[in-house]
Amino acid sequence: MSGIPPSLEKLAELMAKFPGIGRKSARRIAFSLLDRPREDIILLARAFLDVKDNVRRCPVCNHITESEPCDICQNPRRDSSVICVVKDSMDVLAIEKTTVFHGKYHVLGGLISPLNGIGPDDLSIEPLLIRAKEIHELVFAINSSVEGEMTMHYIRKMLSNCPVSISYLARGIPIGSDLEFVDDATLARALQSRIELKGE
Ligand SMILES: [Zn+2]
Repeated sequence: MSGIPPSLEKLAELMAKFPGIGRKSARRIAFSLLDRPREDIILLARAFLDVKDNVRRCPVCNHITESEPCDICQNPRRDSSVICVVKDSMDVLAIEKTTVFHGKYHVLGGLISPLNGIGPDDLSIEPLLIRAKEIHELVFAINSSVEGEMTMHYIRKMLSNCPVSISYLARGIPIGSDLEFVDDATLARALQSRIELKGE
């Protein structure tokens, strides 16, 4: 766009690539940086790098963490016999906010989606199958989209010879909606009244 200094336009272009930031907001953020003290900009740039350099995946549950294993995995007060399976780390945060779940998690890192070329091997499914042998209950907290159903079906099939009890969230979660956008009370109720799946 003419009239905008190239460095400002470049920053706005980069910001617009982030989720939830449209072109207009990106330009507004870029402009607002002009009025901030240089120290703030340095802190911001460093915060970006710190996230990139320090946040990694927990080797046990695949949740984001700065320690290995993550705080949830190494918390002795969490029930190790129950694992809640979620699509991504945002879902862990949403469930933790309800404070009703006291087990541990497993973050798949996405859902099986043949259309997008995502198969079981692209997700953290193999480590989950190994963990499932040591636990009592596995709770699917995955939305019932086509990809969600496909992913749960695949995992259930792979666990057909495993004695683990499998349950899923009670009704109330809108089909296809991300857990992070479901209100706390609905999510808490769905977790507390989860339904056990009888052998297929
Ligand atoms: Zn962990």
